[in-house]
Amino acid sequence: MANTFQLEIVTPEKQVVRDVAEEAQIPGLNGYLGILPGHAPLITELAVGVITYRMRGEAHTLSVAWGFVEVLPDKVTILAEAAERPQEIDVARAQKAKERAEQRLKSNDPEIDYTRAGDALQRAETRLKVAEEK
Ligand code: ATP
Repeated sequence: MANTFQLEIVTPEKQVVRDVAEEAQIPGLNGYLGILPGHAPLITELAVGVITYRMRGEAHTLSVAWGFVEVLPDKVTILAEAAERPQEIDVARAQKAKERAEQRLKSNDPEIDYTRAGDALQRAETRLKVAEEK
């Protein structure tokens, strides 16, 4: 069996990855998926989290948020609403987004959408974590 699979990661703005990979960990809505070549086919939703993958022995990390994942034995396609490499992350922006979300979650304002604020906090924390891998 092949020891690699094709990995494609795209957002509405750009193609982020198009290469062969040896393995990948992907945040699915029901938890992290560990992918090796020859994985059984599946389609699932992409959550907010960190994608890690290995290409030619080298580890890579991406921060991602929402989308879809299609796994085939020889190809994994990820359509993500947002994806950033560590060096693309604007740390000050993520820090501000984190503080804004924390303020909203702490407030007792009936106008606040707590689910939305919680999601924003998760995205910001994920970006800050991935940015440390620079
Ligand atoms: P903010 O409140 O700072 O806009 P957000 O979590 O609401 O953050 P998203 O809706 O997830 O932002 O993303 C919108 C676009 O901005 C995407 O293309 C995403 O890659 C990019 N983006 C968001 N935050 C950052 C960041 N800190 N550094 C680099 N790109 C970012």
